This record gives sequence, C-alpha cells and structure tokens, in this order.
Amino acid sequence: MTDTQGLAAIIAEVPKAELHLHLEGSISPETVSLLGARRGVTIAPEAAASRYAYTDFTGFLEAFKWATGYLKAPEDYALITHRLADELVRQRVIYAEITVSVGVMERYGQNVEANFAAIDEVARRYRENGQLRIAWIFDATRQFGPNAAMKVAVHAAKFQKHGVVAFGIGGDELAVPTVNFRAAYDYARNQGLHVTMHAGEIGGPELVREAIDHLGAERIGHGIAVMRDPALADRLANLRVPLEICLTSNLRTGALARQTVKPGATLADHPLPQFVDRGVTVTLSTDDPAMFHTDLLSEYNHAVSLGLSKPQIAKIIESGFTTSFVAPEHKLPLLNQFRSSAKSLGLL
Ligand SMILES: [Zn+2]
Repeated sequence: MTDTQGLAAIIAEVPKAELHLHLEGSISPETVSLLGARRGVTIAPEAAASRYAYTDFTGFLEAFKWATGYLKAPEDYALITHRLADELVRQRVIYAEITVSVGVMERYGQNVEANFAAIDEVARRYRENGQLRIAWIFDATRQFGPNAAMKVAVHAAKFQKHGVVAFGIGGDELAVPTVNFRAAYDYARNQGLHVTMHAGEIGGPELVREAIDHLGAERIGHGIAVMRDPALADRLANLRVPLEICLTSNLRTGALARQTVKPGATLADHPLPQFVDRGVTVTLSTDDPAMFHTDLLSEYNHAVSLGLSKPQIAKIIESGFTTSFVAPEHKLPLLNQFRSSAKSLGLL
C-alpha cells in the first residue's frame, strides 16, 4: 500500500464533520426521477443527469432551481434527508451542519414548519441510534433581498430547539449589497444563533471583509477570493474565522477560473495549500455533492493530491469539529471521538 492509499484509508475510517453541505444539493439524478414520479412527471435519470452538466455559476444556480422545483411536500424533504444521512454515515461523518434553503421554500409558498418537521424527524432517528448528529443552518437567498432574508432568520430562531444552530445567506453574491442584510444578521445573533455567509466565491475579497465587518459572520462559505488579498488572509488567520473550502464545487461552478483569471483552471490552481501555509483555518466540504459528482472522501483525497501533509489533513478534519456551531456539551465528545480514533489509526 502506498502512503497515499494508506492516508485515503485512514481518511475514510476516521470520524469526520461536514459543515458546508446543502440539503437540496444532495439530490441525485435518480432521486429527482423518483420525486418527479411522485407528481406524475416522468424524468429519466439520464435526462436529470444532463441538467447537472453546467459549466458556470449561473448554470449551476439554474440546475439547483430545477432540482429543488421537484420538492413539493414534507415527504419529499424527508426522502432527501434520509438519503443524505445514509450517505454521510457511509463516509463516517459523525456530525454534519446541513444547510436548508428556507428562502426557497418561502419563495415557493411552502409550509416551512411542516417541511422542517419532516426533515428533523429523520435526523432525530439517526441521532438516537448514535450514528450521526445533524444540526441545521437556515439559508436565505441573497438575490431575494433583505425582507425575505429576515423571514428566514425568524424561522431559524423559532426552530433552535430542533437543532437549528445558524442563519446564513447563499445565492448570487453580486446581487444585493452586504450591508443591506445587517438587520437580519443582528436579529439572528440577538436570538442566539450563529451566523455565516457565502462570500468570496465568485465575488471579490471585499465581500468577505464586508461579511465579517458588517454582519459579524463567524465562518465564510468558500472565501477563495481571499487568495487575492494576503492582508485579509492574515486577518482571517488572526481572527480564526475559517473558510469552508469546497474544492470540486469551485472547479465546477467556474469560481476557481474566475478568481484565478485562468479559464482553464484545474484543482492544481486552488489556493487551499496557500491558505494552510498562511495559517488560515480551513475546513473541507462538498457543498452540493450530487450536483458536483463528489463526496467528502473525494474532497479529502483531492486535498492530499494538492500536496497537503498528513498532519495538515488531520488539522483540517479536526477544524471541522472545533469550528462547528454545535453546543459545547456535544462538541467535546465529538472531538474526543475523532481524536481517539485518529490516534489509533496513526493520523495524530
Ligand atoms: Zn454553498
């Protein structure tokens, strides 16, 4: 067995956390077919798969919109939660913060309470059998504007006792100025929620700075634009504000090509090693695993192929737990589970 194969085996086995993962981005083409069939619509899995063959960020948002359009009822949300949870268990993920696009539910006029009750009921079963703890991040959609975002923050606050730990915003970064969301973020924080934001994915480093300075974002989704601003990288390192890195996502959405100004950018151009060398805290995630044809193990193996060392990989896995929004009484047992397994596997 080569060192790389050995490390891949350890990564597969060690308990992990995943912090940047969209429930609606986990719907496989086969699941879209099944959801369509529930509504009397025939969609061949191949036709669904071809919808996922986009080459830029707009194409990705269109595909995301198309797939989520088949989520109509609580039982649909239960199905996708169940399938995602099984997939996480298979990869030895023991803690996940899953982002739910509540802004999209609201947009479609759905019953958020009923949908989330169905989602949380599935999560409860996994939690009770000790396989997987799931916490939730309620996500507003940036292009829907500040009023819609506030509604999502209100829902998030209401469902804290059902495992909602944070409020965040995703979508089109360039659509609405960051500062316009200050009221929603202030409200969420005052209600005891953690706050996060997608920033510096396709937008510039100033969007990352604004998310921290105007909104108090505790973690940044993606943030790869920071590669263009070393002073900001140092500031993130000092503040210990982590970047949630999603390698394949950045490639597939064209975000990496955009940030590097290299139309043919490959993973080798990704700034992850640069961030690690500079002391920026990073975590690794899949973002939308079905839509990007990836999983968490592949993401870690990509990081290894970018030259990250075993101790650096161990640190990233550990950061998945240390930077999570889980309550302290759950964080320590999760961390200990990782550390004791990592020691016995020779990762630490
Ligand atoms: Zn995301």
